[in-house]
Amino acid sequence: MKAVRLVQPGQPLELQEVPVPVVGPGDVLVRVKAAGICHSDAHYRAGRSPVYPLPLTLGHEVAGVIEVAGPEVDHLKAGDRVCLHYMVTCGHCEYCQKGNEQFCRTGKMIGKYRDGGYAEYISIPARSAFVLPPEIPFEQGAILMCSSSTSLHALHKARLKPGETVAIFGVGGLGVSAVQLALAFGASQVYAVDIQPAKLELARQLGARPINAAEADPVDEIRRLTGGKGVDVAVELIGLPLTMRQAFKSLAIQGRLAIAGITEQPFTFEPYQDLINREAEIIGVSDHLAQEIPLLIEWVREGRLDLSHVITRRVLLDAKAINRVLDSLETFGEDVRVVIVP
Ligand SMILES: [Zn+2]
Ligand SMILES: [Zn+2]
Repeated sequence: MKAVRLVQPGQPLELQEVPVPVVGPGDVLVRVKAAGICHSDAHYRAGRSPVYPLPLTLGHEVAGVIEVAGPEVDHLKAGDRVCLHYMVTCGHCEYCQKGNEQFCRTGKMIGKYRDGGYAEYISIPARSAFVLPPEIPFEQGAILMCSSSTSLHALHKARLKPGETVAIFGVGGLGVSAVQLALAFGASQVYAVDIQPAKLELARQLGARPINAAEADPVDEIRRLTGGKGVDVAVELIGLPLTMRQAFKSLAIQGRLAIAGITEQPFTFEPYQDLINREAEIIGVSDHLAQEIPLLIEWVREGRLDLSHVITRRVLLDAKAINRVLDSLETFGEDVRVVIVP
């Protein structure tokens, strides 16, 4: 089968011909129908985040149809439409037992530590596969499994309550979901901060108040729009020290900043003014939980989470096309989410 793989960090991905993966007794073999290209994949290709063993097929936002179900699989069968939870976990270590399986001692993320979905087929333990209702297109099922689920986890971690105000920094693949999920949770007002006019317009259509950080200081704008109070919850989805600082400085008293954007660079703030005086909190957001996925699938099915605008482009399973998408993610291009349709 064809697979687009990371062979060497810092180099373009390559199309390789590889064997169709082996299906273990508890596994399912899935024919990939859609695989999202995520900003994390740009980090992986660049070598900013470890990927091994190489060569390895990237792609952790995957939906498709079960081709073969192993003999021990009883809740899924060939022909089922599924989307895949990207963490393959053991299910019995202390982290898995406590429902924090993103820290599983032997957990392996697909498209990072085992072959992912930039391929014609992927094999995965059946408990990582969730049935995708017929109303939800594969493309949406795929992106649901990273950008939407991480946004949901960020809002859970930030303990967002109905009636609170929220600022979302970054209206990319995660931000579009974060805006809608915050509103679905009952946020009284959602501010969406970005510098791309098209993304800000999309955020506006989804019910957020857009703030163009290229035109005005987003901290001043948020303070002005909230009568000086600031927001109860800020979510940083960009991964830049500047936007982390801005998001933190936008908080109200007892406000919570959830950070899901990735950077190795430190960000600065004034502890007395920003942290102590406000009893503010900074919360890290790592991945998401399998138990959060059924709620997401249900909200998409009900139309409370509309992902139809998120996918701005489709490409074939072609190394050149995929590398170009990753190049544009490096420069924060206009696309919200590009999906590979093999
Ligand atoms: Zn992702
Ligand atoms: Zn475990």
